Amino acid sequence: MEKVVIIGTGCAGLTAALYTARANLAPLVLTGTMPGGLLTTTSIVENFPGFPEGIDGYELMTRMQKQAERFGAKVKYGTVESVDLSKKPFTLVVDGEPVQTETLIIASGAGHKHLDVPGEHELEKKGVTYCATCDGALPMFRSKPLVVVGGGDSACEEATYLTRFGSTVYLIHRRDSLRASKIMAERTLAHEKIKPVWDSVVIEVLNQGEGKVTGVRVKNLKTNEEQVLDCAGVFVAIGHVPNTQLFKGVIDMDEAGYIKPTRGSETKIPGVFVAGDCSDRVYRQAVTAAGMGCAAAIDAERYLSAMLH
Ligand code: NAP
Repeated sequence: MEKVVIIGTGCAGLTAALYTARANLAPLVLTGTMPGGLLTTTSIVENFPGFPEGIDGYELMTRMQKQAERFGAKVKYGTVESVDLSKKPFTLVVDGEPVQTETLIIASGAGHKHLDVPGEHELEKKGVTYCATCDGALPMFRSKPLVVVGGGDSACEEATYLTRFGSTVYLIHRRDSLRASKIMAERTLAHEKIKPVWDSVVIEVLNQGEGKVTGVRVKNLKTNEEQVLDCAGVFVAIGHVPNTQLFKGVIDMDEAGYIKPTRGSETKIPGVFVAGDCSDRVYRQAVTAAGMGCAAAIDAERYLSAMLH
């Protein structure tokens, strides 16, 4: 029987692993299908404190894993298929095998919503990205036209941020008004470098033949007209999907599926804690996820020691 099982090896999961390992709890850490989490899909991370030159996302996560393992965390490649949190110890089925644990830290993260159009997947990291804060300052985007897709606060934030680097930022939205908060929408549309492209969707990212983004094919949904916009980068900001399906009906969530903690990292089930993007629809940064992982580890450790006394 495990004292602590952590679901997820993104920043939240691995930080929780580091802290619980250093508390001598030998946590079992389950990777899921994306070891290292979302950060492994980005190139250079320049906003994680402590790396003035930036660090490759994959390398950062590898280092975090090594650091946790050094203190006794057991990282296992496996996917949780089901959970039974109705009685203690909790039972998880991991790739067909049952695992029992006294506490559970859910750090299962979130995925970027994808456009699912030709060229998007093929040109990921070659101009297609899901995080302006992570990738916007890369040399390949400097002084070039850029595209942001979406009409929410994230898209507005990304577009505004990208005006520092790009020559023009096209904001492509499928309707004729933004979903974003009024203040964000007004600020975005007032920016001289941002050019909205209304009622339009990206139907193809170009150019797979060249192995890098050179433009997007856009279709106007009202007129059905198509046009090609030249650009060096496509920033997709059409929302996130928290990886919380397993816990539907078991743990409280908001309407979008983000887990709602009751106090700190606690959930309504004593002994079950939550951290990172699966419960954060606001900040979604590597460093905030790491902080939440630390908090969940401390809460789990305190819960276990309270049970002993
Ligand atoms: P969001 O509010 O769900 O907006 C997603 C946008 O993408 C919408 O405009 C939506 O169009 C569009 N979209 C969705 N699927 C699409 C598709 N398949 N193709 C094309 N467009 C698509 O997501 P978000 O902007 O990431 O924001 C999530 C939450 O975080 C919100 O509550 C937001 O307020 C908050 N947030 C706040 C801040 C801030 O305050 N600084 C910053 C970022 C996020 P429709 O409008 O037509 O549905």
